[in-house]
Amino acid sequence: MAYDDNNIFAKILRGEIPCKKVYEDDYALAFHDINPQAPVHVLVIPKGAYVGMADFAANAPTALISGFMQAVGKVAAEVGVVEEGYRLIANDGPNSHQEVPHLHFHILGGKRVGPLLDGSFR
Ligand code: AMP
Repeated sequence: MAYDDNNIFAKILRGEIPCKKVYEDDYALAFHDINPQAPVHVLVIPKGAYVGMADFAANAPTALISGFMQAVGKVAAEVGVVEEGYRLIANDGPNSHQEVPHLHFHILGGKRVGPLLDGSFR
């Protein structure tokens, strides 16, 4: 899928839409999800035009890939979920219900979350 510069996270990165920022560096921005699904629900996005992980892994500069992954770990530590544990989710593409077409990792914590999937695949 081609990257759409008008997706909502692109607008947040450009500062056109506000966010509740948790962390920012040269490679990543993290902010609270507008519709939290857990007591801690933070999104981490890379500073680059990538819809999904395959494109990001294949085409992003190595510094961006490593910087983004380091940011995910830093943010998890900063929001205080590492000791008790948390779920890291990246919805990627139509089957995953990805809503925003800019690569993002969800950090979900602050409570014991349910099973990974809904159990509908048997
Ligand atoms: P996904 O389904 O993985 O694409 O998740 C997109 C997430 O972005 C959802 O959890 C939304 O609640 C969240 N979201 C959408 N718009 C905003 C926004 N303006 N600020 C923060 N989170 C947002």
